[in-house]
Amino acid sequence: MYDRDALLAAVDLRQLADDLLGPGKRVGRSAMWRCPSAQHAQTGRTPPVSIFTSHRGEQRWRCHGCGEGGTAIDLVIACRGATSREAMTYLAEYAGHREQPDSWHPSTQRVALRSPQSAGCSDPEGLDRYVNDCAKRLWKPESSRLRHWLTDVRGLPTDVLVKNQIGADLGPRSQARPDGIPRTAGIVLPVIQDGHAIYAQIRVPQPRPDRPRYLNPTSDLAANPRLSRVRPVEVQHPQVIVAEGAIDALSAASAGYRAVAVLSAAYGDESVAVALARLPHPLVIAFDADDAGRAGSERLLALLEARQRPPVVLDLGSGDLNDAMRQSNDWPAQIERMLDLAMSGRFGPIAAAVNQ
Ligand SMILES: [Zn+2]
Repeated sequence: MYDRDALLAAVDLRQLADDLLGPGKRVGRSAMWRCPSAQHAQTGRTPPVSIFTSHRGEQRWRCHGCGEGGTAIDLVIACRGATSREAMTYLAEYAGHREQPDSWHPSTQRVALRSPQSAGCSDPEGLDRYVNDCAKRLWKPESSRLRHWLTDVRGLPTDVLVKNQIGADLGPRSQARPDGIPRTAGIVLPVIQDGHAIYAQIRVPQPRPDRPRYLNPTSDLAANPRLSRVRPVEVQHPQVIVAEGAIDALSAASAGYRAVAVLSAAYGDESVAVALARLPHPLVIAFDADDAGRAGSERLLALLEARQRPPVVLDLGSGDLNDAMRQSNDWPAQIERMLDLAMSGRFGPIAAAVNQ
């Protein structure tokens, strides 16, 4: 159901090649990429693929070693083993032309961010009801303190909070809960999959120094899915931003990006990389600018590169994504600048860009 020509016109093949094949290598005046064909053994010294514009005005790629080539659709097919229909769905998502406003992944590829252990939930209806109750309650007068923390202290826009069903739990005396949800007041950060809650964390805004900020349900109720998809009100960019925790992921969504929150402390692990590599979008890692964040980001980078999904890594300079958002005058432009810097290969602290 796609207009092939419109779709191809909407995709920058050079950018797509950078994203799918890894950044192009400059050879003379033009860039060259590796060949996506599995049959084509390459040394990697001089990549064989070039990109040109055909006499019809269409961008095409061609491997000078084995003769493979074609349009952006053919590149997706060659890289991902997709059918042409799947490739067009992929490109539509990639270009931000979306068939359905809230479809996260191509309908033919219903691979959710589901790790094997998250399959079981002992009380899915109870969990769903709890998340819905809390999401409604956040906007009632009695939740003003929690709402203030989200919107004023953390600077998160109300439409993004509504979109992601962020909620308020005012404690066990005013809020019923399924067995396994902590009996504590706080902000409810649900993990929604296919329209249903499969997990929920409670963020305590101002915990006592000896208490944790995040409280998790028992594994009897729901296993930690490790990742949570966070949606912008309207998708405005092809990239998915991978952030530490829900607050940072909501900050990325505030700038119109799809985001994934990594929930587990051991973020850079194999199962997280496997789930992220399945997403059909360019990946951007934006972990905290501290030792733990940098280590996690390096590990995840290596795991994703091993899966032919090299991500772009943002260096925030200091703090986290939420800090960067709150310090910025124009947050969407800010992220785009950070992405441009990271992709142009000028690595290193970008505090200057963040603070400008
Ligand atoms: Zn080739």
